[in-house]
Amino acid sequence: MIQEYRDISDHIIEDVDVCVIGTGAGGAVVAKELAEKGLDVVALEEGSHFTVKNFNQDPGDMMAMMYRDSGTTVALGLPPASITLGKCIGGTTTVNSATCFRTPQEIIEKWSSEYECNGLVYQELIPYFERVENEINVTELTQDVLGNIYQIIKRGAKELGIDAKPLKHNVRNCEGAGVCQWGCIRKAKQSTDVSYIPKADNYGARIYANCKARKLVVESGRVRGVEGVFIDPKTNKKRYRISITAKVVCLAMGALITPGFLLKQNLANISGMTGKGLTIHPCGRVVAEMEEDVLGHHGVSQGGQIDTFADEGIMLEGIFIPPGVMAMALPGVGEDHKYLAKHYNNLAAFGVMVSDTTRGRVFPGLLGYSYLAVYSMNQADAEKMRKGISHVADIFFAAGAKRVFSGCYAMPVLNSRNDLNEFRKIKIKPWHFEVMAFHPLGTCRMGNNPMSSVVDLNLESHEIKGLFVTDGSPFPTSLGVNPQVTIMTFATRAAEYINANLHRY
Ligand SMILES: Cc1cc2nc3c(=O)[nH]c(=O)nc-3n(C[C@H](O)[C@H](O)[C@H](O)COP(=O)(O)OP(=O)(O)OC[C@H]3O[C@@H](n4cnc5c(N)ncnc54)[C@H](O)[C@@H]3O)c2cc1C
Ligand code: SF4
Repeated sequence: MIQEYRDISDHIIEDVDVCVIGTGAGGAVVAKELAEKGLDVVALEEGSHFTVKNFNQDPGDMMAMMYRDSGTTVALGLPPASITLGKCIGGTTTVNSATCFRTPQEIIEKWSSEYECNGLVYQELIPYFERVENEINVTELTQDVLGNIYQIIKRGAKELGIDAKPLKHNVRNCEGAGVCQWGCIRKAKQSTDVSYIPKADNYGARIYANCKARKLVVESGRVRGVEGVFIDPKTNKKRYRISITAKVVCLAMGALITPGFLLKQNLANISGMTGKGLTIHPCGRVVAEMEEDVLGHHGVSQGGQIDTFADEGIMLEGIFIPPGVMAMALPGVGEDHKYLAKHYNNLAAFGVMVSDTTRGRVFPGLLGYSYLAVYSMNQADAEKMRKGISHVADIFFAAGAKRVFSGCYAMPVLNSRNDLNEFRKIKIKPWHFEVMAFHPLGTCRMGNNPMSSVVDLNLESHEIKGLFVTDGSPFPTSLGVNPQVTIMTFATRAAEYINANLHRY
């Protein structure tokens, strides 16, 4: 049963096998997998529980409702990076774009050979990938649902001899309503609020929304439980408390909050690595003005991908930007801006995602915030961003774009291929880009060596027995692809380990 603030009328005491904190990609999976095996599970979620009834397709309303700090969360740096996070049942999966990738094999091999993850074998992950993909229905979509921008990109890429492919999505009966990031109005997206959490609920897990974990109880090197509080989402007032005694605790608050939570309590940081190693997949958006009607709002928000440049750390992926957000993304004022707003239906957008070598860091939060993140994109990643933007601009010109908006302050408008050639040569600095990111990872890294990592390969803390980190925090490098399936896969594997070893705790 999912209980929210308004359902609670007294302090709560629970004594369970497993307490999971967070209901996003990592938390929901562990909660369902273990409840299904018959373990007594409680899951805490700081955000509220929303359903299709609450979704009105207005990005402003939905961001205020389902995103942490209404979508204004940033990492401080030069340039600052916007890193938006979901805060609701389903976590960031409830507001994500539903694209699905398995972890690339070469990434697993790199972790194993270069990042002290000796024992991780790609082939052994395959059954877990399959289990996750089955649960969230990873599927290929029909051309009409993939949207017009994908067709434009495919056309331009073909001209240049580049292969554009459709992305896979975790959806059932998706109609291409294109509002995945503001709550799927068709209940088509199989985010954890509609896939794993209802199953966890059916298997008997108790799920508490509007419930913030505040303290980990640790005794003699073992985790003993969690203390939390119910918070009124309207007034932010704290009311009833929850005290949970648990044999195992899984932290799944996301790669920014989990390390902030541990650092604040001075826990699980003997290696000094907790909070270090933040990667974010910095993203850029390129917008093209086309002659034709694009109608970018028809179809999924991310239809296609180009992985031709993945070896260089550059992925090109679809994005769709609703009018209000698009208006902020475009250059120009007055008549210029009005012109573009009027020609919204002729605008196509495509994204650049960089596999970053930059490392940021998370510190304990101040003034009531759950974390403080710092990240300044390095020059090598800025060059990758420029290359990625150039490839997208080239493809848009090949598809017939009148002009291209690069998203780079050093040269925001490209009116022709000549401009594009110039853009490829000008001096670029990291702060010339408006950095957006959606995939924080890597802040409680896994590894064999307790002196250089936070958790082992089963995602259990080297230091505190029974404490697991099952969100995006344990991955030693960026993935180069969108991470939800990787997070769910490692969470499934950790759940299997917890179930097999419960007698030890
Ligand atoms: C706009 C957007 C689009 C994206 N699109 C894609 C995509 O298409 N494909 C893809 O693979 N990935 C995508 N992602 C990323 C993906 O959704 C995340 O990487 C993934 O959900 C992270 O999982 P997680 O378990 O680490 O954390 P989350 O899913 O963020 O879950 C953490 C949860 O913990 C809760 N929490 C935090 N602190 C506490 C506390 N103290 N007590 C209780 N609860 C707490 C939070 O409220 C949150 O609900 C996207 C992200 C965004 C923002
Ligand atoms: S495109 Fe529309 S129907 Fe499909 S998953 Fe996204 S919001 Fe749901």
